[in-house]
Amino acid sequence: MIEATIPTEAAFEVVIGLEVHSQLLTKSKMFCGCKTGYANEAPNTHVCPICMGMPGVMPVINDEAVTYTIMTALALNCSIPEYSKFDRKNYPYPDLMKGYQISQYDVPLSLGGYLTLNLHGQERRIGITRVHLEEDTARLSHHPGYSLIDVNRAGTPLMEIVSEPDMRSPEEARLYMQKMREILVYLGVSSGRMEEGSLRCDANISIRPFGQQELGVKTEIKNMNSFRSVEHALEYEVQRQIAIVREGGVIRQETRGWVENRGVTVSQRSKEQAHDYRYFPEPDLPPLLISRERVEGIRVLLPELPDTRRARYVAEYGLPELDTNVLTEDKALGDYFEQVMQASKVKDRKARAKSASNWLLSEVVRLLNTQSRSIQESSLTPAALVNLLDLLDKERLTGKQAKEVLAEAFTSGELPEVIVEKKGIKPPITDQGMLEQIVEEVIAKNAKIASDYQGGKTNALQALVGQVMKQTRGQAKADTVQLLLRKKLDGPQA
Ligand SMILES: [Zn+2]
Repeated sequence: MIEATIPTEAAFEVVIGLEVHSQLLTKSKMFCGCKTGYANEAPNTHVCPICMGMPGVMPVINDEAVTYTIMTALALNCSIPEYSKFDRKNYPYPDLMKGYQISQYDVPLSLGGYLTLNLHGQERRIGITRVHLEEDTARLSHHPGYSLIDVNRAGTPLMEIVSEPDMRSPEEARLYMQKMREILVYLGVSSGRMEEGSLRCDANISIRPFGQQELGVKTEIKNMNSFRSVEHALEYEVQRQIAIVREGGVIRQETRGWVENRGVTVSQRSKEQAHDYRYFPEPDLPPLLISRERVEGIRVLLPELPDTRRARYVAEYGLPELDTNVLTEDKALGDYFEQVMQASKVKDRKARAKSASNWLLSEVVRLLNTQSRSIQESSLTPAALVNLLDLLDKERLTGKQAKEVLAEAFTSGELPEVIVEKKGIKPPITDQGMLEQIVEEVIAKNAKIASDYQGGKTNALQALVGQVMKQTRGQAKADTVQLLLRKKLDGPQA
């Protein structure tokens, strides 16, 4: 008798490709003069006959959107053909006022690039098929028995970045999305706000037995609006597809939506084929001719990208990898760090970089979190942080005092030296003899704790440090006090 072998989960390879949509930070819409900043505006106030899809109106290409798309394509190592064009994608959904979307079909603005990411210390190169330009749709909101439409979003420039099916796990897809967001924010072309829907992502996902060349039937997953939901939705979908195949079923090509609160994907509709859209060249727009001078002009003006910045922080400042990763992940924080370094007039640049990074990533970030503010919204200027670091270098403040001064500067926006003066903060005790005397007094007064420490309770030392700090009203440096206490208590061998 032959037993059928049921393939195990490990027998399947996961294949994922992502389509990322990003609204572009242009001032006006893609083909009309309507302003894009509609986030806090009443519905249907940022509209005109063009984005309302009235018959007989003529669209005009937003040149800034074209520049932003070329910038992105170059940052993703794509080539920019000299000739491209816009096409009509016919689309029978109510969120498109015209009954079609202006998009790009067979000759997009750019082709064939890649993005590199780091997966558990290994460099992975994910192919980029194309970056093209289209327009966003209107927003529908569904209510019991009726639906409402807000046309403010319709016509907003929307850039689509299509990857090759090169990702092999949901985790890799999340890393790709995070890296993509970083690049778009560094370029200044996208707000990067997934939670607001200005940056969105759809995934094509399939499974196949290891070793098989042919791709399996894919499903398209929508509605993933955070990095976490990208990973979770794809993990769920992998399991769902494997279960179907193991039970001898067939995976249907379809579009599925991720339902965050239930943690499942559900079928939305069967997937359209390209011919369902009846693409044809947009007759109301001229072809898009991109000169080589324009491409090179944009290339030289590209800002520093996150990978380059990371490498520079290591080479120039000798910062450890953990620091560079956190400082570059959030562009605003990295920019702030640079301003601190620029305003720092010190000889030892590396030591200053390390102390600036330490204070930024611990105390400053902590204060920002307690007030739910970003670094740009804080009243602490880079000059104020430099001033604090200078006072620490000059040993004018202890670490403990510096934290208090920083918290004050954080709310008042004043310079630390002004706060020190105003509050009459005394300089740290540098007189070694005086400090030793206080240490001896504290040991004498706390004989029990001292003998506990000598008996092996190392934690007891902190209690003694605390007592000395209290005696000196915080004017002693904690690490010096600790050293002196050890010297006295550990005996001559220390
Ligand atoms: Zn308009």
